[in-house]
Amino acid sequence: MDDCIFCRIIDGRVPAEMVYQDDSIVAFRDARPASPIHVLIVPRKHIPTLNDIAEDDRILSEIGTVAKKIAGQLGVGESGYRFFINVNRGGGQVVFHLHAHVVAGNDLGTFFIKAAVCCAIIWRKLASLFGR
Ligand code: 5GP
Ligand code: ZN
Repeated sequence: MDDCIFCRIIDGRVPAEMVYQDDSIVAFRDARPASPIHVLIVPRKHIPTLNDIAEDDRILSEIGTVAKKIAGQLGVGESGYRFFINVNRGGGQVVFHLHAHVVAGNDLGTFFIKAAVCCAIIWRKLASLFGR
């Protein structure tokens, strides 16, 4: 499809940093990575969303297998990564060509714990300053 950015990447009309390719799937680095590792796994076939996959289509399990492979290659298979698909606008989908995200390299769990501890410390300081 001419108006689909991922179809244009798959056709080679738009450049992207490829990390994996086979007959049915390509994977490339996200242009605006949310983490040091952020790869998009994309079927070559233009399927708009997860809702459009036929029941007997094996594409989801192929995407999962590729995710596992890429995570291993990028060295985060054991330490861990996030694997997710946004579906439609309410699910955060922006590009309407089915794709899965593989995100890793930030310690997402401890980031929120550290942020909460910092907020608690600042709160206590403010409370003591204002005599509460
Ligand atoms: P969605 O929100 O649809 O699940 O994710 C779409 C992703 O595609 C976003 O993370 C966005 O940064 C990425 N993206 C959009 N346009 C391009 C592009 O032209 N090249 C690459 N490599 N990634 C893109
Ligand atoms: Zn497309």
